[in-house]
Amino acid sequence: MPLRAISQDAKVRVLFVEDSAEDAELIQFQLEDAHLNADFLRVEDAAGLRQALQAFRPDIVLSDLSMPGFSGHEALAIVREHSHVIPFIFVSGTIGEDVAVAALREGASDYILKHSSARLPVAVERALREAKIEAERQRVEQELMRSQRLESLSLLAAGLSHDLRNILQPLLIVPDLIAQRSDDPRLHQLASVVAECGRRGHEMAESMLSFVRGSRRASEHFRLADLFHAVQLLLKGSMPRQVQLQVSLSDPELGVEGNYTEMQQCLLNLSLNAIQAMPDGGRLELSADAVDGQVRLRVADTGNGMDPQILAQLFTPFFTTKANGTGLGLVSCRRIVEGMGGRIEVASTPGQGTCFELWLPLPVEEEEAEVQRQAAAVGHGERLLLVFREGARLSLVGNALTSQGYRTELAADGAAALRAWAEAGAPDAVVVDSGISLFPAEALLSTMHESGYAGPAIVIEDPESPFDPALVPASLPLQRLPRPLDMHRLFEAVAAALAGRRAD
Ligand code: ADP
Ligand code: MG
Repeated sequence: MPLRAISQDAKVRVLFVEDSAEDAELIQFQLEDAHLNADFLRVEDAAGLRQALQAFRPDIVLSDLSMPGFSGHEALAIVREHSHVIPFIFVSGTIGEDVAVAALREGASDYILKHSSARLPVAVERALREAKIEAERQRVEQELMRSQRLESLSLLAAGLSHDLRNILQPLLIVPDLIAQRSDDPRLHQLASVVAECGRRGHEMAESMLSFVRGSRRASEHFRLADLFHAVQLLLKGSMPRQVQLQVSLSDPELGVEGNYTEMQQCLLNLSLNAIQAMPDGGRLELSADAVDGQVRLRVADTGNGMDPQILAQLFTPFFTTKANGTGLGLVSCRRIVEGMGGRIEVASTPGQGTCFELWLPLPVEEEEAEVQRQAAAVGHGERLLLVFREGARLSLVGNALTSQGYRTELAADGAAALRAWAEAGAPDAVVVDSGISLFPAEALLSTMHESGYAGPAIVIEDPESPFDPALVPASLPLQRLPRPLDMHRLFEAVAAALAGRRAD
């Protein structure tokens, strides 16, 4: 059989470990006769072999079993020390069944009798092909691990910069307060140093966050048929022969909305897990259909399965049962799927296999999507007047509401609030802390009401300065929230207040 697949490739380097030059030459003839495009080198002892592994860098080693002062087994051990992937074939004048089995167990790729010319080229070609597949498999796996690490790194950075922004908040506000409260020029100087540090820290956190956000790729519509096709191609190198791949799709036009590359990575993670769970072969099934207004993607295997203990920890970052696993594959899958508004379900039976199901929303029509987007952005630039005594809290609440799509005006006391109103016009709603000084909250709201403000008010009740609703006009729409302040309740209260106002 001619070695077409190999001979078209770049030259192969074949290393003989053989004391007889004639024998090596004979094998070389056989291989050249079968059109193997190769360079050959012969060594006959340990030192020669070590040197050749470094300098000649063989793609395959063909070794005699016994040589004077050196043996094929020693040669195999030296080669395996150097690399686990270089194919190693014993070629011997005599080889017993038991020796052959032992050789394979020690990590040889094959054994062949000298002068059985028909089998030699076939065995060499197969060993080279398998080594190439193995190398490709390792490459894909490593690439995947690398991207999983990057992914968790960016998650970490996002969380970190978000927390950092909040922690730095007081650094931006407190120096101003200190400066206001003192005439000491040195204190002013120190305050401005602190404020400058706070500003720089804030900027750094901000740019880190936008960098991480920027690395997120956009959402698009894609067909699952294309996705499956791509995943099949990518899996080719990693698919052991004993694993059968079965792909089925209920509708060739079936599609989803999301980031194509991320989804591809997700399916690849699940498929590789499945393949790794089937060391003795089995069936890997990829399928998709539409069920109950959702898209169901299934990745099922007939592998080892998992016991309840493993199942319980499946999505824990860094949880792995593999010697060189990352324990990040499923974490990243879940983030991707949940980012698309979907969920992952798992069913597994030890010894029988595992099935992962990804449930994804069917893509909505563009118009519907627009309505959903609008619903998601709560605020539409409505103006809120916030009155809080403590600068740090004022700024935190202000940021929180700005993030919800509102415009905010901040005032540290009742007088400042009235000034802001006079300058910027009536707000759409007022949020006031009952603990403000000089001008109590009741007085502020009454004054505003008397001067024509009819909008809603939300009072945050500080237990130290109880709020008396009897002191404000009953016609003023009023909501009261307790301290400590729960941001989500505040968001709800603001949304309700503005909705009531629109209804009027
Ligand atoms: P890794 O593959 O690096 O270990 P994963 O997050 O992809 O990390 O998987 C975590 C663990 O879940 C695996 O180590 C394995 O124990 C288990 N697992 C995942 N998929 C399967 C599967 N199809 N069959 C059996 N066990 C699985
Ligand atoms: Mg994995």
